[in-house]
Amino acid sequence: MRDIVILGSTGSIGRQALDIVDRHPGRFRVLGLTAHSNDQLIIEQVRKYRPLMAGLTGKNITPPSDTGFCQWHFGPSALEVAASQVPSDDVLVSVVGMIGLSSVLGARKTGKRVLLANKEALVAGGQLVKDLCPEDSENPTLLPVDSEHSAIFQCLMGAKGNTFRRLILTASGGPFRTWQKGRIANASPKDALSHPTWRMGVKITIDSASMFNKALEIIEAKWLFGAAPGQIQVVVHPESIVHSMVEFEDGAVLAQMGLPDMRVPIAFAMAYPERVATGVKPMAPEDYYNLRFEQPDHERFPALRLAYEALEAGGAACCVLNAANETAVNGYLHHAIRFGQIAQVVEETLASLGPLSADTLEAVLDADQLAREKSREIINQISREDI
Ligand code: NDP
Ligand code: MG
Repeated sequence: MRDIVILGSTGSIGRQALDIVDRHPGRFRVLGLTAHSNDQLIIEQVRKYRPLMAGLTGKNITPPSDTGFCQWHFGPSALEVAASQVPSDDVLVSVVGMIGLSSVLGARKTGKRVLLANKEALVAGGQLVKDLCPEDSENPTLLPVDSEHSAIFQCLMGAKGNTFRRLILTASGGPFRTWQKGRIANASPKDALSHPTWRMGVKITIDSASMFNKALEIIEAKWLFGAAPGQIQVVVHPESIVHSMVEFEDGAVLAQMGLPDMRVPIAFAMAYPERVATGVKPMAPEDYYNLRFEQPDHERFPALRLAYEALEAGGAACCVLNAANETAVNGYLHHAIRFGQIAQVVEETLASLGPLSADTLEAVLDADQLAREKSREIINQISREDI
């Protein structure tokens, strides 16, 4: 039996994690749950899983009287309470945005294993997280949930200590893979939210359309696997069947494959080192006789270049990239900027802030704040010019 806390239990990843819990009675015990504002769903979840603690970070409610067995916490500090104070084995961090960073650190400081979906936390505070997750291949303290990184992790399990030469991250290419630049620039949120292969939360779906999701994943791969930027390559793979690949010194390339269903990497992290049933349909290889791999187009999708530049710049540049992207996605969804301007906002924010430190949590939070202010200024300027 493993005791688990799920931060972001009402989201796409959180709900699928609870689906895995349901499939394995007696294997997982849910000790804590948090949501932001979806009180209806978290109340239902509390009734069903009877955790010790539940949190709503963005809302204050009077908890229903039949949930008196559970301690409720309201406001942003609910995340820290769930991550640090609830005595679980594992904390699944599946909130959206770098808001998850403090919880990742809190969970590690109190000895929990972190199952990490929340890539923004690692992008913003990679060194801080890494410092709290000592290398231990027998007992990993940080398990990736992101499908590409789970794939790489699984490929490296067959490496027996041999180092890799290259990590090949696959990207679906998103809904605009075949669109012309001008059309992408003015794409509507409805278009951007129509992902061809994955069903996910809103923010990551927009990131997949802009390829900022893959940009964040390049940075995530650096921290998870200690890869140099030059060792991380992205290929567009529209079928989303190969979840990523690892190339070794002898030229052998290992890939992890399967139907695109997040329950596989979620369950892999939750039950590690065991593999448990997920309800995912068996894959029929004959349906996939035409797996395509294409070079990403940096002209139409500048996000990948910006990730490599931020890694090169070091300090808090990746944190700035993430904060500017979070702000720009929000601006785009509120119609303040056009789709093509998301990358512009990120690039201008990176260019206008000088080198910033990411040595401490305070420094990272300061850099994040500065980047959000600067990107909001840039968004305001763009929207004034557009009128
Ligand atoms: P969703 O938007 O579906 O869910 C986000 C969850 O976080 C919800 O429970 C939401 O609560 C909560 N939340 C939202 N804002 C805040 C906040 N400010 N403070 C605390 N909690 C908050 O996102 P996803 O599940 O799609 O993604 C979660 C993370 O996992 C992201 O970092 C994403 O990049 C990563 N990921 C997701 C994948 C996927 O397939 N969905 C794949 C790989 C990685 P409420 O419901 O109340 O708003
Ligand atoms: Mg991914």
